[in-house]
Amino acid sequence: MRAIHKAYDDGTTRQEVLAGVDLDVRSGELVALLGPSGSGKSTLLNIIAGLDPPDSGSVELAGQSVTSLDERSRTLLRRRDIGFVFQFFNLVPTLTVAENVALPLELTGSARAAGRAAAASLLHRVGIAGRDDSFPDELSGGEQQRVAIARALAHRPRLVLADEPTGNLDHATGQRVLDLLTGLVREFDTAMLIATHSTEVVARADRVLTLRDGVLVDTAA
Ligand code: ADP
Repeated sequence: MRAIHKAYDDGTTRQEVLAGVDLDVRSGELVALLGPSGSGKSTLLNIIAGLDPPDSGSVELAGQSVTSLDERSRTLLRRRDIGFVFQFFNLVPTLTVAENVALPLELTGSARAAGRAAAASLLHRVGIAGRDDSFPDELSGGEQQRVAIARALAHRPRLVLADEPTGNLDHATGQRVLDLLTGLVREFDTAMLIATHSTEVVARADRVLTLRDGVLVDTAA
């Protein structure tokens, strides 16, 4: 992404959240994104995902310009190339565990049976085998985040965007979830940008960047 600017206007004041952000993340690279609450981390992730338009600047994903695509193409690109992991898991409560994981595959056109088979195999990998027909609210927080990791990776996206993935888990559970997530993205050679306050994430990252006054500053890992 190049020269990203984004400001929010609440009617009286205009706050420039991103004031010229440049960022490249290569495949297989794990980049930690730090910065205090309100510094614009989520805004940056949303802009990369094409969920929120920047005021100016460009975002490219897999050689395609996210910022110049129309809404429908942007949605297709997002479904195909991006996986998301959120702080509050964000599983679909009315779908079973297996259906949640198969969803991104079905949205990108996989046949139902193929989606189910891939979901079962990934659920096994994340240590959730045997709970395929459970609903999210029957699982612990750590288990829900494992399911969310399986969902984020099911369609083998090029990029995983993670927003405080351990922020709602106790320390030990967070560690295990983080080991799993970083292990899988490394194995699949996926790029990952992970907004976090966690020093454990920083220790595992290839690069650490901090959002400060609207720009990214290289911080030692
Ligand atoms: P972080 O993820 O680092 O906590 P955010 O990206 O959520 O930061 O927010 C950055 C700033 O932008 C905050 O001051 C927030 O209030 C403001 N902001 C974010 N989204 C909106 C929005 N949709 N409308 C107005 N202000 C927003």
